[in-house]
Amino acid sequence: DTIELRSFLELTLDRFEMLATDKNIIFNRKFSNKPIYVDIDQDKMTQVLDNIISNAMKYSPEGGTVRIRTLQQGENVRISIADQGMGIPRESQTKIFERFYRVDKARARSVGGTGLGLAIAKELVQAHGGHIWAQSEYGKGTTIFITLPYTVKEVKA
Ligand code: ATP
Ligand code: MG
Repeated sequence: DTIELRSFLELTLDRFEMLATDKNIIFNRKFSNKPIYVDIDQDKMTQVLDNIISNAMKYSPEGGTVRIRTLQQGENVRISIADQGMGIPRESQTKIFERFYRVDKARARSVGGTGLGLAIAKELVQAHGGHIWAQSEYGKGTTIFITLPYTVKEVKA
């Protein structure tokens, strides 16, 4: 389906906002003003975003801010989700996209999960012709980037 990215992201974040309040986490959203149309499978992309947002919340401290941005870059749109959590050591930053890989088993066990979320996210993003990667500073926070090709054509209302 061709959908407008901003409204899709807003709806997705709205669903998490209640959970975020429990941990005093603030979502700071900044999206490009121009409508961006992407051709995506909504269920699949929802699964991708749900995992990344829930990771950001799981690994964030109380009162942290999660920043969500979109940026147009040529024929792609780049979505970033940045948290102020514990971060990921450099040597693990590509491994987190492998099945069942979890940084620090003890730490991971206490927050729950199977270690499949990002492996699935990577598969789904690539199936959409996009890329996903992590940039992180250990102890300071993590940003997950996703790029997706976007369609220039406007959709009739
Ligand atoms: P699942 O998503 O299957 O419930 P999970 O969240 O542990 O389990 P992934 O989403 O694949 O699995 O993430 C893999 C690992 O990457 C996590 O266990 C965690 O160690 C690390 N990780 C992912 N996102 C972050 C983040 N935002 N900050 C710090 N570490 C992260
Ligand atoms: Mg996860």
